[in-house]
Amino acid sequence: MKSVVDVHDVSFAYGDSPALEDVSLTVEKGDFLGLVGPNGSGKTTLLHVMLGLLEPDTGTVELFGQPVDSFDEGERIGYVSQKATDRGGTMPVTVRECVLMGRFAHVGHGRIGDEDRLITEDALETVGIADLADQQMNQLSGGQRQRAYIARALASEADLLALDEPTVGVDAESRDEFYRLLDSLNRSGITIILIEHDIGVVTDRAGRIACINTELYHHGDTESFVESNALSEAYGKTGEVVHHHH
Ligand code: ADP
Repeated sequence: MKSVVDVHDVSFAYGDSPALEDVSLTVEKGDFLGLVGPNGSGKTTLLHVMLGLLEPDTGTVELFGQPVDSFDEGERIGYVSQKATDRGGTMPVTVRECVLMGRFAHVGHGRIGDEDRLITEDALETVGIADLADQQMNQLSGGQRQRAYIARALASEADLLALDEPTVGVDAESRDEFYRLLDSLNRSGITIILIEHDIGVVTDRAGRIACINTELYHHGDTESFVESNALSEAYGKTGEVVHHHH
């Protein structure tokens, strides 16, 4: 079976400063991969390379078995960037309209129909924001806006969700709820890649961990990560570990 993402020997530098060196990893269908590492360790860069938003200097990336530079099924990927919680740049549309846009890839030159509207309502229900459907996107809290983007990805029938620190600025209770939502989406078969600075949260939720600090320090299941020295090695190079306390 084809991997969802296949990163092979990738290096990337911003000018003269290397952000990724010889990183290879694969994400398989149904994985819940936590991407961890200190601040500035290249997590967002790696995610951008994986999704074809940045071209690696060397190495190759495949998405769903296709070279990323010719990949043309964007609707299969839901990407919620770090900026998703920001109000700035939000489109002047309602939540329902935003989610309905997820259907555009599927209607071709046809028109949005009843089925598209049903799928949209379903997606709003699934992420728990059906009651906010008529609000403007810019009226939502950061956490609610994240959910709207996830609903849009569900409406577009994405099978990969990539999330970059989705709960920054979200209160603890909403965060727990958010991770329960991710769990259930993952159980329904959606592959998840999650950047999260709180190590405890990721090791609780993700089945697999990639730990980077420019180079890859660990890629494998969460248990072997917890038992390994990868975390201290990766963090030892620069920063401090954020531990989650229950
Ligand atoms: P992380 O997501 O782990 O915090 P990033 O991938 O954002 O790390 O950044 C990795 C390194 O690349 C950091 O040293 C950062 O300062 C640098 N960097 C990130 N984006 C840019 C950019 N657009 N231009 C130059 N340097 C960048």
